[in-house]
Amino acid sequence: MIISAKYLMTGDGKTVLKNQAVLIGTDGKIQKIAAKEELKGEYQEEEVKEYGDATILPGLCDMHVHLGYWYSQPDSFNYGPQLIMMYALQHAQAAFERGITSVRDMSSAHGVCRNLKLAAEKGFVTIPRITHTDTGICMTGGHAWDEIEQVDGPWEVRKEIRRQVRDGAEWVKVMTTHRSHIPELTQEELNAAVDECHRRGIKCGVHAGTNPGIQMCIDAGFDTIEHATFMNIDHARQMAEKGIAWTPTIMAYTLLYEICRDNMEKHTGAPVNDPVMQKEMKDYQYFEPAYKAYRDHFKEFYDTGVTVIAGTDMVMYQSPLMPLPRELEYMVEYGITPAQAIQTATSNPAMVLGVEGERGLVEEGLDADLLVVGGDLSKDITCLNDVKLVTLGGRRVFEDGIRYVGTGNMFM
Ligand SMILES: [Zn+2]
Repeated sequence: MIISAKYLMTGDGKTVLKNQAVLIGTDGKIQKIAAKEELKGEYQEEEVKEYGDATILPGLCDMHVHLGYWYSQPDSFNYGPQLIMMYALQHAQAAFERGITSVRDMSSAHGVCRNLKLAAEKGFVTIPRITHTDTGICMTGGHAWDEIEQVDGPWEVRKEIRRQVRDGAEWVKVMTTHRSHIPELTQEELNAAVDECHRRGIKCGVHAGTNPGIQMCIDAGFDTIEHATFMNIDHARQMAEKGIAWTPTIMAYTLLYEICRDNMEKHTGAPVNDPVMQKEMKDYQYFEPAYKAYRDHFKEFYDTGVTVIAGTDMVMYQSPLMPLPRELEYMVEYGITPAQAIQTATSNPAMVLGVEGERGLVEEGLDADLLVVGGDLSKDITCLNDVKLVTLGGRRVFEDGIRYVGTGNMFM
């Protein structure tokens, strides 16, 4: 199968080629990239899919999802293991519609991602590639304590990580700040988490949004810092220097800000002792400056050279499923180019996940995880909303609004 379009964005943050075609090999890898006529001439028996005014790029990676996050459902009492699995499956399948071919899950109910991944390997379901943590880890009473594992002291931290590695965790997720300036885990506990992960050859990400929590996580040497909402330029520089990647999750904080703002407007005139209103006001006090922090500083931090990876972190009830294109739109609105934004969802994630030799770029020899969107993506990031085709390992999984499952395979 040959796919051809007017534009080809390689995913390296800058390169856009014109009038190229991509040959997908029978092994599901990108066999050759060349001028369309040349490739057609050389492989005359291959079927050609010509997309015209469209862009070929690597399939996207959402680096912060929670496929099995059911806690915010109003009827959460209904959610047992079976329903949670169906819920997670729905999220995983919806990814293709957004051009997403891989995800990093940063805490879901115990065993959900491992079982989803097994189901995909057995051919029961067709879903994106998953790299996953187990459930998150926090101190007793720490951020999200009622949903994740609570540990205290360096040895409990290590023991929980050992249990998670035993149970198949591929990454570890630690939580250490909530909406105040008081850090949760101690430096000793954070250091133990990083040491235990790296000693076992796995990477770890940490939820840190405020100071001095962010600095403590930089000092501990986590592989990725999630949110880092209120970091400063010095933190960004240190992260760039130490090779710590940043997952800003702009969309999540912007959406939370907008929800609070709208609810407060609706509640105008409500008595101050209304507990609903009080909660909204408290949330607003955190999310409004959070939204502004991203808006006003994203570009400045990006320019330090810190590795930015795109993640959506949608956990609210009825939130959109993995709205990664919107996250990338914010990045462009805040000052970087579409090609740079795409890099945060393609080759940067591949590098952070340690699979840069396998995917993340449109390059010969890599997995044919490809996306075709209408228009010139290098000029307009919203082209991502017009998904024409998604392939996973050379296999069509989504085309023109239809998801393909099972053995239906036009490429192999
Ligand atoms: Zn999260």
